[in-house]
Amino acid sequence: MPELPDLEVVREFLGRVLPGEVVAGARVARPIVVRDLVSEGASALVGRSVSGVGRWGKYLWIDLGPGMCLTVNPKLAGRLAWYRAGERTRGRPALVIELRSGRELHYLDAKDMGQVYITHRLDEVPGFAEQGPDALDPSLTVETFAARLARFRGEIKGVLTRQEFVAGIGNAYADEILYEARISPFRRRTQLTAAEVERLYEAMRTILSEAVAVLRERVGERIDLEVRDHLRVHGRGGARCSRCGRTISELRARQRITSFCRGCQPGTLVRG
Ligand SMILES: [Zn+2]
Repeated sequence: MPELPDLEVVREFLGRVLPGEVVAGARVARPIVVRDLVSEGASALVGRSVSGVGRWGKYLWIDLGPGMCLTVNPKLAGRLAWYRAGERTRGRPALVIELRSGRELHYLDAKDMGQVYITHRLDEVPGFAEQGPDALDPSLTVETFAARLARFRGEIKGVLTRQEFVAGIGNAYADEILYEARISPFRRRTQLTAAEVERLYEAMRTILSEAVAVLRERVGERIDLEVRDHLRVHGRGGARCSRCGRTISELRARQRITSFCRGCQPGTLVRG
């Protein structure tokens, strides 16, 4: 599932190559993933020039001049793919955007669960405006973070992945952040001390910005690839913890894997 670091490097890359490009053609191959809020279909994009690319949380958007915006929320398995002129394309695209330069941008989705929105305005995109501050937003201070956190209850991992709290963190990076902060994913938010909340904030900033730096090098133009082998705990159940040497634990609940180290992330395990 693409999360903040994955999407941030896509935004950086598209922000370099797309502005000034003009849409020559747009074709919807999998209508189930496209939500057309302008009632003109993908043809509304044709002839428009890209003025910018943005990201907030797990939403990525392409501005196509005044009053037109293409927004992607990839959910479980959505990907954007970028092709140079004449390059052989990969996979089965749900949406194909041909650019006047001969380059192409595709949206692919192996599960058809993500969404692409064609809208006049960004705030028309469902769920967009309800998001909390982006987890890497410079104006999100530790004080704001702690004040927002106090409004949420339940296990801390669940809270971290609530987009209304902070936007951009999903299942994998929540595990990484909690491991870095040495906090068990099953601790309840109300049990956390002020020092732990501060550690959580620092870990969130460190883990996410380090991941962006790693992915920036590793992904390059292949924005359709999901690189995950730099993770230290998520998906590494059974491996040895690089900090304390214990075996990393892995639990599956509600179709999600939670990976953590009982050695460095102590806490009562309330469910097995
Ligand atoms: Zn450990």
